[in-house]
Order: sequence, then C-alpha cells, then structure tokens
Amino acid sequence: MAELLSVVVPCYNEEEALPLFIKELKRIVKDIPVDTEVVLVNDGSADGTYELMKKLAKEDSRIKYISFSRNFGKEGAIYAGLMNSSGDYVVIMDADMQDKPDLLGEMYRIIKEEGYDSVATRRVTRKGEPPVRSFFARCFYKIINKMSKTEFVDGARDYRMMNRKFVNALLQLKEYNRFSKGLFSWVGFETKWLEYENVERVAGESKWSFWSLLLYSIEGIVGFSTVPLVFSSFLGLIFCMIAFAAIIFIIVRKTVFGDPVAGWPSLVCIITLLGGLQLFTIGIVGQYMAKLYLECKDRPVYIVTDSNIENIK
Ligand code: UDP
Ligand code: MG
Repeated sequence: MAELLSVVVPCYNEEEALPLFIKELKRIVKDIPVDTEVVLVNDGSADGTYELMKKLAKEDSRIKYISFSRNFGKEGAIYAGLMNSSGDYVVIMDADMQDKPDLLGEMYRIIKEEGYDSVATRRVTRKGEPPVRSFFARCFYKIINKMSKTEFVDGARDYRMMNRKFVNALLQLKEYNRFSKGLFSWVGFETKWLEYENVERVAGESKWSFWSLLLYSIEGIVGFSTVPLVFSSFLGLIFCMIAFAAIIFIIVRKTVFGDPVAGWPSLVCIITLLGGLQLFTIGIVGQYMAKLYLECKDRPVYIVTDSNIENIK
C-alpha cells in the first residue's frame, strides 16, 4: 500500500486564500510520490470558509474538513488536525501560502531519505513586519531560551513535516495550554531546519495583533519555564536583606549618634516600591496558578460541530 501524507491546514476566515492554496497544493503534490489527504480545520470562521470547505470536500475525496463550534485558536486547530490525520507523514501548513507549498517535495525527500523525524522551517528575514514587532520578537527568543531548557528557534514557523512517530509523541501531550513551538521541541527526535525568506500572505489579513502576540509570548514562558517563580523568591530575599541592613543602620544612627528618625517621603517611596514588587511577584505566581486552574478543569481543547471524517476525535 502506498504511503499517505496528511496536510493539516488551520483556517480562520480564509475564504479568500483557501481556494488559491488548494489549487497550488494540488499542483505541487502531483509531483510528490506519495498519496495525500488534506485536513482542513475551520476554526470558527465568521466568513464563508466553512461552506467553501464543504464544497472543496465534495469536489475532491482527498479533502477532509473539521469545523469547530467557535474560534478556539490556531493551537487548537493544529491539535484537531493532528488528532484526525491518518498519514504516515503529516505536514502543518497555513492557508495563506506564507508556508511555501513548493517546499513540500524537498521536505518529503529529506524525511524519507535522510532519516530525520521531522523537517521544520524558519524564516531568516522579518521583512514586511513592523520593526517594533521584530525587536520584541528577538527579545522574546533571547529571554525564553535563557529561562527554559526547551529550545526555541528564532523565526521558527509551524510549517513542519513529521513522521508518524513524531506525531504520536506530540499527541501524547494532552495539555490544555498548547504552545506548539515548545511542544515540537520538547518531544525531541531529529529535526532538520530549512530556512527561507519571509513572504507576504496572498489574501486576507494576519490574525495577530501586537497585543495578542505579547499574551502568546507570556503563555510560552509560563508553559515552558518556572524561572520567573525562582526570580520572585530571589527578589523577595534581596529586599529582606536590604531591609535588615537599613534597620541596623537606623538603630545605630539613633542610639550612637542620636540623630532623629526623619523623613516620611522616603518612607512613602519605600512602601510604594515594596507594594509594587509584591504585586508584581504575586502576579507571576498568579500566572502559574491560572494555568494550573485551566489545566485541572480538563476541558477539551476544541469542540467539533461538523466534519466529513468518520469517527472524528
Ligand atoms: N488561524 C487559526 N485560528 C486563529 C488564528 C489563525 O486557525 O485563531 C490560522 C489562519 O487561518 C492561518 C494560520 O492560522 O492559516 C496563521 O495565521 P496568520 O496568517 O494570521 O498568522 P501569521 O502568518 O501572521 O503568523
Ligand atoms: Mg500568515
């Protein structure tokens, strides 16, 4: 029996890009010596993406679709796609062709011939991106790599081809707070990195705002490092030591030199500083507690309303 390649495509409001993507994909996979199936995941789109998927699935039996009851986020869509793909190889691709379909052949060849378990991509330029965003993105990668034992590759995309072994390992990570970039790296195995230049999306617009990226990065740090907790204890310790030294200083000044204890302004400054630090560190602890809270509720990562896949998971 011929081997099967599953193409998982998370889609959120992609009615403009999706037809172009499917057309290009069909053209590319013709030349790859493997059977293909496409798993389109409609992540609660508000436009005609769902109707379009159904139409595409009717025209081509290789196309499967899964439709969510609301928007669950790209991570949820990727998870659903992986859960329901049956290929010996699985590739995750965006619908906007920023993940260049013409790399597929090369990825398949590498995974097949060079013995890697996954082939991942990273972009080497951040062209077409606001400079402020690039700056913060770089800072994020520096910080998280210092803090976490899991490696985060700067510019890594979710565009990645994996063999069954790799996918099954990923599916064992059933956490609710999913940060794919970290999960991919956490499972280990041999990964080959391909580099390419950033391209603009063909149609539609990016769903990421600066704010959503910032929240996403905090998620990554909290999900893969406990260093902030150590940091807050450490900060507390340092301030205890400073306070202790200050107390001795004041006592000595009063008893030995008889200077009056003066200055409510300095007192106010100290109180606000300490109050701020306390709130800050409680906030850090709170971040972890919030994640714990969500994890222990054990809610599903996504909910499906419709699909043409039998025994949908
Ligand atoms: N996406 C999704 N759910 C979301 C947001 C995005 O499934 O809540 C999909 C989107 O349709 C696209 C991919 O994730 O296929 C990447 O999104 P986008 O192009 O907006 O991100 P960028 O390429 O700018 O990082
Ligand atoms: Mg994109």
